Amino acid sequence: MNILVLNSGSSSIKFQLFDMGAGERLLVKGLADKIGLEDSYLKSEGPDGAQNQRAATLPDHRAALQAIFEVLRSHGPTENVASDVGGVGHRVVHGGEKFGESVLIDDGVMGILRQLVELAPLHNPPSILGIEICREMLPGVPNVAVFDTALHQTMPPKAYLYGLPLDLYRQHGIRRYGFHGTSHAYVAKEAARHLGRPLEELKMITCHLGNGCSITAFERGRSIDTSMGFTPLEGLVMGTRSGDVDPAVPLFLVKDLGMSPDEVDDLLNKESGLKGLCGERDMRDIETRARQGGEAAQTAIAVFVYRVQKYIGAYTAALGGVDVIVFTAGIGENSAYIRGEVLRPFRYLGLRIDGAKNQEGQTVFSCPDSAVCVMTVRTNEELVIARDTCNLIPCKEDPTKRRTRSPAE
Ligand code: AMP
Repeated sequence: MNILVLNSGSSSIKFQLFDMGAGERLLVKGLADKIGLEDSYLKSEGPDGAQNQRAATLPDHRAALQAIFEVLRSHGPTENVASDVGGVGHRVVHGGEKFGESVLIDDGVMGILRQLVELAPLHNPPSILGIEICREMLPGVPNVAVFDTALHQTMPPKAYLYGLPLDLYRQHGIRRYGFHGTSHAYVAKEAARHLGRPLEELKMITCHLGNGCSITAFERGRSIDTSMGFTPLEGLVMGTRSGDVDPAVPLFLVKDLGMSPDEVDDLLNKESGLKGLCGERDMRDIETRARQGGEAAQTAIAVFVYRVQKYIGAYTAALGGVDVIVFTAGIGENSAYIRGEVLRPFRYLGLRIDGAKNQEGQTVFSCPDSAVCVMTVRTNEELVIARDTCNLIPCKEDPTKRRTRSPAE
């Protein structure tokens, strides 16, 4: 069965089409970008790696999805998208407290997704729009929502509550939600599978280090804490996001420096992190500059690494020890240098890295006698979305099968 995965943003839609029958094969992937702008374009890549990019008139998300369906048609497996796609999986950033797992979309779910816009005013509306258009343009094709937050709904109150008046949580939902859930869930399962151990038996810390960065602690197979919070701004130092700062800093920026709330929002989300510290957001460039003696780049790396170390230390304490530490995403998968630096202080835990294996990017790169296993696992959020979609869509022969109830029911 073919499953289409969509990740709809405010000005782009990423897509991947999987054949879930034949070894979860990726058939085509691509991107409709700069939607609503003059220089919008469509990019696609087949399973052989052959790429195609062309200018396309994409005034809105509807036109972008139409263009994507054209690409699917021209790629062969889907003569007629509405009949050849068994289901569409949508990445939805925020599921609030309503969704602890992926869900088959119906009118009730749509109503709840619209209520949740309050919590994710930038991220959820494009996903909702993508779902609405698919429901309209592909009648009869089931849609599934997969949430970045769902994995972390297992966090206990001591991890998700802030030290703020409780009414802010009760009345406005101000609490820690956590994000990157599909990535953490995928790499945690893959790591356990690789080790031949049940995830439930492992104390595991997963480090998603990409443009966005977050760390999750797994106990008995469940997320018990994660570094992102009410929004994806909390926690680690990221490409352009600050991560943790004293909450008095934004107040100072507003009251003493006269910045507007929007300016502070921009500063914390788009001008801070690695970019704020050294002017670059791309870790490859920063590492190059640091090697050439650039002091700002060296400092940025030191701040980045130290923050990751602090979270690993905190989560080791929260878990009462750690069996496995996993690195994933652009930096985590590719930078042996950052992995090595991050793990340096954890010799006290009996953790020993095999330097050569780390350089080679081997999946397990700890020494055989290391007390903690350290791993690099390539993330695949789209595959998680495709799998969840496949598992939730109603079976054609018996529509009562494989249906999960929406919280609205
Ligand atoms: P992602 O958001 O997962 O695509 O990750 C993007 C980040 O990964 C950027 O900061 C890239 O510079 C970083 N990255 C990708 N490849 C490497 C590499 N070989 N070494 C260091 N950082 C890398």
